[in-house]
Amino acid sequence: MPARYAMVIDTRTCIGCGDCVVACKTENNVPAGLNRDWIVEATRGRYPNLTTEFRSERCNHCSHATCVYACPTGASHYWQNTNIVLVEPGKCTGCKACIAACPYDARLIMHPQGYVDKCTFCHHRVARGQDPACVSSCPTHCMHFGDLNDANSIVSQLLDRRKSRALKPETGNQPNVFYLS
Ligand code: SF4
Ligand code: SF4
Ligand code: SF4
Repeated sequence: MPARYAMVIDTRTCIGCGDCVVACKTENNVPAGLNRDWIVEATRGRYPNLTTEFRSERCNHCSHATCVYACPTGASHYWQNTNIVLVEPGKCTGCKACIAACPYDARLIMHPQGYVDKCTFCHHRVARGQDPACVSSCPTHCMHFGDLNDANSIVSQLLDRRKSRALKPETGNQPNVFYLS
């Protein structure tokens, strides 16, 4: 069975330090002013019982990726039969159909080249058996990565044991980044 790669992030131990964002830029040579991942600071609960939650967000590598289906040239595609979504720069015309089709605002336009870029789940590292750079760099170890089709993987076990949620599940995109709360 092909892998279904997922990221599971514990919002209780994310401190919003941004090391994951820096690691991504360094690993993937993301130019200044552009980001493949970002931190959202959200207030949860009801006054006076409010808590601040930090969320490290990126492409959700959706199992039903509307960006892939919207791409007219095949530049946006699934990697090796998995759910990892990549963009082939040479095939990308910069038409922005994928940007309009993504409910997570996860795509960016590379300047000055003009092709669309995004998080790759660091597939080059995954191919070597390593975790994505952001996961490896997190100082609180709140980020986890693995294959949801493997019942013994850390991500399967965490989702079995803990309450979790994905962002905008109502879109039907079947996102594969989960937040433990
Ligand atoms: Fe949160 Fe870890 Fe990213 Fe820091 S590196 S913002 S603790 S996910
Ligand atoms: Fe595509 Fe957006 Fe889903 Fe990423 S989050 S796979 S860019 S639809
Ligand atoms: Fe960046 Fe890799 Fe993390 Fe995606 S998985 S946000 S490309 S470091």
